[in-house]
Amino acid sequence: MLPFKTLQEAESAIGRSLTTAETIWFNYSANKSDYYLYCHNILFLFLIFSCVPLYYLFLEFFFRKSIQSYKIQPKVNLSLSDVFRCYKVVIRMFILVVGPLQLVSYPSVKMIGIRTSLPLPSLWVILLQLGTYFIVEDYTNYWIHRFLHCKWGYEKIHKVHHEYTAPIGFAAPYAHWLEVLILGIPSFLGPAIAPGHMITLWLWIAFRQIEAIETHSGYDLPWSITKYIPFYGGADYHDYHHYVGGQSQSNFASVFTYCDYIYGTDKVISVLWVFIFGLQVPFCNHTDSYTAASYLTGLSLSKEGPPAVKGASNANGEQNGGSATFAKDCKDD
Ligand SMILES: [Zn+2]
Ligand SMILES: [Zn+2]
Repeated sequence: MLPFKTLQEAESAIGRSLTTAETIWFNYSANKSDYYLYCHNILFLFLIFSCVPLYYLFLEFFFRKSIQSYKIQPKVNLSLSDVFRCYKVVIRMFILVVGPLQLVSYPSVKMIGIRTSLPLPSLWVILLQLGTYFIVEDYTNYWIHRFLHCKWGYEKIHKVHHEYTAPIGFAAPYAHWLEVLILGIPSFLGPAIAPGHMITLWLWIAFRQIEAIETHSGYDLPWSITKYIPFYGGADYHDYHHYVGGQSQSNFASVFTYCDYIYGTDKVISVLWVFIFGLQVPFCNHTDSYTAASYLTGLSLSKEGPPAVKGASNANGEQNGGSATFAKDCKDD
């Protein structure tokens, strides 16, 4: 709630006329509590999750032939009832987990200094803060995601998110409830490090959600504006992670690609580690590098499993030489 009763009061407190955006914000928020404004995030999350994936469904339904070449796993086609089932599961999770989390997390938002007051931040400040939030989220999410691919983390928690080996937009938040809670930490860290205005927080939650939906859309659309963002992973990048499934030990990053490059878990680099340098990627299983080689070359390498590399083991902790589980053969060769 703003500490001004009229526009004139606000202008004399700031020492200048309000901009158009500030006038709109004053008219909208002057009599609303900060808690109420914060809870708008629940509505935004629901609307974005319900509407943005429809864009991809619309393209698939009306322009199937035109966009078929951009579909990452063209052999996989989910029925509308499958899509609706996914939507229902996520909405239930929103009601039982995400919504309540938003309702009770307000004190932490106040504590880190998210403000609703005037003046509004400039566009440059908003863009700088959003960029910071994405970088912080990407880095933290990378390590949590890697942890979730250890035997325990995968079996107990992360397996649910990997049920979709060919993801769709509605499957972006499809995950175990504990994963949803844990991955709230990377999303919160950015605003905690560089706290901004409530509008910036709204935009952050909205853009992060839209980005996750695009990444899971199953389409690598050439006209996507995200193609112009340096080091942006995108749908093709994350789709590979789902394609490999439970054995996946590469392409962990949620937004950008540089963490996977730096830590040797990019699918190309992981192949270089094993097949050129003869080394195992630190903390990773060797089987995935073999799958990556298969994927990149288009060759159907032997299903007997990867060639033995000293000290390497697969995701189940088995030493090489055992049978390797390969991803479903749903990629168009
Ligand atoms: Zn994963
Ligand atoms: Zn995913």
